[in-house]
Amino acid sequence: MADPRETLEQLQAFQPDLVILDMYMPLCNGKELVSIIRQQDRYVAIPIVFLSAETNRQQRQSALSLGADDFLTKPIGPSELVAAISARATRARHIRRFLIRDSLTGLLNHQAVEEELAREFARAERLNQPLAIAIIDLDHFKRINDSHGHVVGDHVLRSFARLLQQRLRKSDLMGRHGGEEFLVALPNTSLVEALTLIDTVRSSFAALHHYGPAGMFGVTFSAGIAGYPQHRSLIGMMQAADQALYQAKREGRNRVVVDTTGQESVPGVKEGSEIPSTVPVPTWRTLVISANGIQRRLLRQALGAHGLMYDMIDNVERVLTYEAPIPPNLLLVDMTQIEG
Ligand code: GH3
Ligand code: MG
Ligand code: MG
Repeated sequence: MADPRETLEQLQAFQPDLVILDMYMPLCNGKELVSIIRQQDRYVAIPIVFLSAETNRQQRQSALSLGADDFLTKPIGPSELVAAISARATRARHIRRFLIRDSLTGLLNHQAVEEELAREFARAERLNQPLAIAIIDLDHFKRINDSHGHVVGDHVLRSFARLLQQRLRKSDLMGRHGGEEFLVALPNTSLVEALTLIDTVRSSFAALHHYGPAGMFGVTFSAGIAGYPQHRSLIGMMQAADQALYQAKREGRNRVVVDTTGQESVPGVKEGSEIPSTVPVPTWRTLVISANGIQRRLLRQALGAHGLMYDMIDNVERVLTYEAPIPPNLLLVDMTQIEG
């Protein structure tokens, strides 16, 4: 990167393990930049190394006192440079993992999941893609702790986190938002798809058996779903998901409620009729296999308009390794892919 004014944006987008800085740059000098980076809580631990021909001891010391970690003197050979930074970068990666993960469940912690969500929201806006979020809260968890103890409660939280990790895609966000509350973000996913997915997680979780000193027991959760573009602000979307969650709790728990803002009608429900707490799961789950982007877009619109669940694959070879929480029961294959 050449322009120091882009530093914060680039740090946010690229998430480096380490920063190498020149001491003297046009527009902004290296020392100023270090203090700007260090002012942000999230970058307190990122290693910053100066690479400079500066030999003045005082200059170097003042750079270190502002928060730089090391000073490498130019000229420096490639292998020397790699040796000097690789151990630092590895250690920084470990520390970062420790800083952003919740130690009980291994999911992203509160702050990290909110930051990642902000990034996903911006991405959805930029790419004009849907984004769905779910706020999930375990039901009557206080009672679980009271009846079976905190340690058993912790086991339940871990088993829920494991189930989420098994069922969601790698690109989905999962975080522990608070004690027994979790936040999930599903990029490029419609509300109907999100409902189907979270509702399957719900029924799987409710079917699990947990064991405690007082015997076997089950735990359920309630969830609220909202999304972009129905909500054009992150806060609005979060509030809507929270309200949907509240409604799920009020209506008896162990259910998933979808926020209805910006929808003329919820699939399967006539306008004006009372919205059920869980919308029936659509019957057809279509897997579209097509290398043609326009065709995929048209099908996406058509299937989405009918509230049908679908997934898209752009390369027939990927079909063999395709995995989904609920398998498709209809395949639509582009003719030109038949040879595959
Ligand atoms: P609701 O169905 O309305 O959500 O009821 P609830 O009992 O789950 O809700 P409430 O917010 O009253 O209680 C949440 C409980 O979750 C209280 C707290 O003891 C428990 N909890 C929060 N964090 C942890 C944790 O890390 N481990 C364990 N074992 N329990 C936790
Ligand atoms: Mg709860
Ligand atoms: Mg709660």
